[in-house]
Amino acid sequence: MQYEISKEKSAEFLRQAIQHMSMQDAAFHPVSYAVWYEYSSGEHAHLIDEVNSLIDKEKKLNEKSTAQLFNKHIASLDADSAQNIVDRFNHVVSDINASTIKAGHETTQFRKTLDAWSGELQQLDGEVARHMGELLSETANIQQSMHTLQDQLHSSMQEIAALKNEIVKAKQEAISDGLTGLMNRRGFDHALNQSLASASSLEDTCLIIGDIDFFKRVNDTYGHLFGDKVIQAVARIMKAVSGELYTAARYGGEEFVLLLPHTPLETAREVAENIRQHVANISIKNNITSKLISNVTISLGVTAYQLGESAESFLNRADQALYTSKAKGRNQVTLIAEELAAA
Ligand code: GH3
Ligand code: MG
Ligand code: MG
Repeated sequence: MQYEISKEKSAEFLRQAIQHMSMQDAAFHPVSYAVWYEYSSGEHAHLIDEVNSLIDKEKKLNEKSTAQLFNKHIASLDADSAQNIVDRFNHVVSDINASTIKAGHETTQFRKTLDAWSGELQQLDGEVARHMGELLSETANIQQSMHTLQDQLHSSMQEIAALKNEIVKAKQEAISDGLTGLMNRRGFDHALNQSLASASSLEDTCLIIGDIDFFKRVNDTYGHLFGDKVIQAVARIMKAVSGELYTAARYGGEEFVLLLPHTPLETAREVAENIRQHVANISIKNNITSKLISNVTISLGVTAYQLGESAESFLNRADQALYTSKAKGRNQVTLIAEELAAA
C-alpha cells in the first residue's frame, strides 16, 4: 500500500472520511477512521465494493461491521502502513481536541457574560426574561456537550496511544528472533538493504557469516533443548562482539551474520577470529548427565562490500567464504577479498 500522496489530497480524503464516519452508527475511533480513509482514497476496490453493498443493505455501518471490514482489509497491512493510519488519526483527533477546548472556553466566557446580566434580567419584563432564561439553559447544554465531547476525545487519544504502543511492539517482534533476542533474518535483510542504500557509508563495509559446526550431531547427542542453549550461548557472543558498532542477527537455525560498517577487512577478520575463539571456549552443563560440554565450534566467512553490488551478491560471497571454512575442516575463518571473488 502506497502513502506517497500530496498533503492536500490526503487532507481531502481525511475530510471525506470524517464526513462518512459521522453518518454511521459506529463511533469515531481509529478503526472506523482507517476504514473510511481507505474508502475515500478510492484505492481499495474490494473494500469499496464491500462497504457499498453493506450500506445498501444496512444503511449504516455499526461497530461490528466496521471492525470486520478493518480486520479483513486493513489489519493485514504491514506495520508501517498501520503506523501511518494511526499517526494521521492522531493528528485529526488532536486538532479536533484543540478546537473543542477553544470552543469550550468561548462558551464559558459567553455563559459568564450572561450570568453577569442575569441580575439585571430580573428587572426586565416577562417576555425578554423568558428568552434570556432559555439562552442561559441552552448555553448550559452546549457546555455539557462540550464536556462530553472532550471526554470522548480524551479516551480516543488514550486508545491511539495504546495502538501506537502495540504497533511499536509488533514492529519489534517482526524483526527479532524469539530464542536469542537477536535480530532475525527479515530485520537483518532490511538493515543490510538500508545500509547499502546510504551511499555515504559504504566505504569499508564488511560482512561475517558464521555457522555452528556439526550442529545436527549436537542435537542428536544431547537433545534439542541443549542445542537451543548452544544457539543462545553463540548469540550472546555475537551480541557482545557487535556492541553498538555492528549489527548482529540469527540468520537461520544455527547460522549468524554480522554487518560491520566502517570496518576494514582486516579488522573484520579479527572480529571473526575473536568470535571463533569465544565459541570454542563455550562450556555448557548437560542437565541430564551433569557433565560440561565444551566442544562447540563455529566456521566463519568474511568479505568486504564491493561498490555497486547487490545485497545478495555480498551475502553470497560471505557464504562462499564460510563454505571454504567448512570444506577446509571447520572451526576456522576464511576471508574472500574482492580480487579473489572476481577470479
Ligand atoms: P555443518 O558443520 O556442515 O554446518 O553441519 P551441521 O550439522 O551444523 O549442519 P546441518 O545443516 O546438517 O544441521 C543443522 C541443524 O540445526 C539441523 C537442525 O535440526 C538444527 N536446528 C536448526 N534450528 C534449530 C533450533 O532452533 N534449535 C535446535 N536445537 N536445532 C536447530
Ligand atoms: Mg547451517
Ligand atoms: Mg552447521
